[in-house]
This record gives sequence, C-alpha cells and structure tokens, in this order.
Amino acid sequence: MPGKLELIVGPMRSNKTAELLRRIEIRRAYAKQHVLLLKPSADTKSACGLVESRNHNGCGKMEAAEFPANNPWAALPIVAATEQRIGKRVECVALDEGQFVTDLFCFTKRLLDSGHDVMVSGLELDFRGMPFGEMLNLSWLVRTYAGNITEMVAYCSCGAKALYPQRLVEGRPAAYDSPIIAAGDFYEPRCEEHFILPGRPH
Ligand SMILES: [Zn+2]
Repeated sequence: MPGKLELIVGPMRSNKTAELLRRIEIRRAYAKQHVLLLKPSADTKSACGLVESRNHNGCGKMEAAEFPANNPWAALPIVAATEQRIGKRVECVALDEGQFVTDLFCFTKRLLDSGHDVMVSGLELDFRGMPFGEMLNLSWLVRTYAGNITEMVAYCSCGAKALYPQRLVEGRPAAYDSPIIAAGDFYEPRCEEHFILPGRPH
C-alpha cells in the first residue's frame, strides 16, 4: 500500500520546522513508529546532523541524516540501512527544507510508492515570490496519494498575514536578480503591501 504525504508549507517564521518536529515526536511516542528525519546539506540553518527549530517552545532540535541537496537518491541507502538495523520498516520519512532538494517530486513519489508515509516541510515561494524548487509540485502527490497540506501562518510587522519571504541585504530589500540561494542572508515575512522587490520585471 502506498504511503500518505503530509505537506507543511508557509513563509519563514511560520513555525514549519517546529510543526514537523512535533509530528515526528507524536508518531514516535504514540504510534510507536520509526520516523527517519532527513535534511538536505544545503541547509545552513542548523549544526551538522541536526534539524533545529527557531521556535523555543517546541521540541527544539532533533537528529537528522544529511544528504546532498542535489542528490536525494543518496538518502535511499540510509533508509535501507536503517530498516536493516531496526529490523522493521521505516514507517515515515520526514524531510525539512524541501525547497532545496533537486528531484523532490520524483524522490517523494518513490518513497510513497514504496509504502512510506512522507512528511515534507518547506517554503513554497522564494525571495522573488516565485515557486521555490519543487515544493508546489507536491500538492499533486497529496491529492493523488491522500494526505494533507498544512499552511502555516506568519505575520508581517503591520499585522497582516505574510505571503512572501522578504530577503534583506544590510537592511535593504534584495534585488530581483540576486541569487535564489545565498549564504548568510536574512529574511522576514511580509504581506503583499510591504513586500519590496527592486528590479522586478512584472
Ligand atoms: Zn505588511
């Protein structure tokens, strides 16, 4: 039987990672499931092998197996080795920062087809307000394989619901033509009115 997909989406500071960690914890504690947490190595947010939430009220941090963001297939042997070690199926594979993962759609589909539940958290939009990686494509898998999409909410400093991740460089809005993934950049969630993108063509 194929697995189900739980998708956790929203802008930064919407507690996506905290929500992912909470779901892992309850699956482990109450459903007695083995949940394998994976993390793409392009993630610069936490220390090696850990997924860390910025929300200090939540579970905080959890051990994760890292794989190269441009090759998620390298994580399949980790799943197989884990199953060998624990002597049973890994019931659920959880993936943080899904927007960074190349082949995310095919990789997720493969896990679902092989009977694993999958939980993915990540950003749907990049700093330009455009689809980020393959996150938006996963909604097809939710509809087809069953599961759910949870939209986490963040707020702009004006109090309105934030839709976009505003990238700031030295306190100023980053230009449209700056790179999609930049090390050490700073973001804040902004509403439609306060999202600024200098050099946007349309
Ligand atoms: Zn605003």
